[in-house]
Amino acid sequence: MTKFDVIIVGAGPAGSACARLLAQAGAKVLLLEKARFPREKSCGGLLSGKTLASIDAPLPDRLVLSKVHGMRMVAEDGKLQAESGHLPGRAVLVDRSQFDWWMVERACQAGAVYRDACEVVRIANGREMATVYLIGGALVAKWVVGADGAASAVARTVGLRKAWRSWQSGITLCREWQSDTLPADQSGFAEMHAVGIPGALGWCFAWDGGWRIGVGAPAFFKPHLTETLDKLVKKITAMRGSISLLPVKTTGALVPTAAFWPRLGKERVFLAGDAAGLADPFSGEGIAAALQSGAAIAEVLSHGWPNPLQKYRAWWHNNYLRQRRLSTLLALTCWKKDARFFAEISRDRVWMDLLAGLMDGCSGYDALWHRTTRGCLGRMSSEVAGEIEVDMPAVK
Ligand SMILES: Cc1cc2nc3c(=O)[nH]c(=O)nc-3n(C[C@H](O)[C@H](O)[C@H](O)COP(=O)(O)OP(=O)(O)OC[C@H]3O[C@@H](n4cnc5c(N)ncnc54)[C@H](O)[C@@H]3O)c2cc1C
Repeated sequence: MTKFDVIIVGAGPAGSACARLLAQAGAKVLLLEKARFPREKSCGGLLSGKTLASIDAPLPDRLVLSKVHGMRMVAEDGKLQAESGHLPGRAVLVDRSQFDWWMVERACQAGAVYRDACEVVRIANGREMATVYLIGGALVAKWVVGADGAASAVARTVGLRKAWRSWQSGITLCREWQSDTLPADQSGFAEMHAVGIPGALGWCFAWDGGWRIGVGAPAFFKPHLTETLDKLVKKITAMRGSISLLPVKTTGALVPTAAFWPRLGKERVFLAGDAAGLADPFSGEGIAAALQSGAAIAEVLSHGWPNPLQKYRAWWHNNYLRQRRLSTLLALTCWKKDARFFAEISRDRVWMDLLAGLMDGCSGYDALWHRTTRGCLGRMSSEVAGEIEVDMPAVK
């Protein structure tokens, strides 16, 4: 039986980034993927400046649908809007199936062995080796990385988690249109929309050739999400004139944000990206954390340290914990996104610039949190925090 140093399960951004860096460091790496690539992936396709900075290579022009220069927030009635200043345009829109395939190609160029149409069904942790069971076979490796997304079979079968609880996860729906007419005022903006559900946010991204409109909300609002997306599409259609063509497809998935207490691994198994629940609770962004966690695992494994899992946990603690706590607090502070919230942020250009700076990677949550809590938004946050305790549905 062929033995690998590391078997990585799942060839999304977390898995490919990890595979490439380990292969570059000389490890014998196998990257297993259950789908056939290039596969479809439900995603807004927004790669923030932070995400791009985690890739360590320039993105080929052919992958860029459009560049994003700023953020716009739009209130539920469509009238109140707030815009950030102009950003350097480091954020871009991509098609995820093309982007993910490019990442896999880079892992293969670095020397990783890649197998698609291989579904991993179980992992058995052993003293010296871990065994990876596929449909119709088994493989062994010193280490296993579960980068198999929100429904991670790796996390489940090693006993790290049964399923996400509703408070640990968001759910996001996305609808896409092909259209060759891009309204002038849409170009270059990542547009965020209040949608009337507490804790939820809609978004609209457009490029010269299509639109993506989506809505993300805490998972316990799942039953209302399709209706909310329909309403958002109607609102955007009324604002911009009709989107003439029928949507190509509506897709959706969980975006786990187990921000405070992620389970990062057990014995010979590590979890990365969505498998560990590392997406940002405030923005819903998950690709940056997927890339960075994949890279961190590669780093701790290639050094040959005696307790690499502990090093990985320390990496999370030092680099992410504070930011994720602030991000969760901000998500709660801006819970309602009602008319009063929009009145506040439309008067506060600095707040919008800090939000855009977050996306661009040039500022962190500390500055936005500080700005939010010092003014009227701060007073709103304490009121909202009081309401949430009463309103929050019971956790099963
Ligand atoms: C609608 C929507 C919109 C989003 N928009 C954005 C956005 O604009 N920007 C952003 O930064 N983030 C966005 N996100 C979040 C982002 O998509 C995820 O956080 C990110 O894809 C996580 O990457 P990953 O590598 O951890 O997992 P994934 O990208 O989910 O990759 C996991 C891979 O593992 C494979 N796999 C699963 N099970 C197995 C198995 N048993 N065996 C083998 N392979 C397996 C899957 O086929 C998949 O290819 C969005 C999410 C959703 C749902």
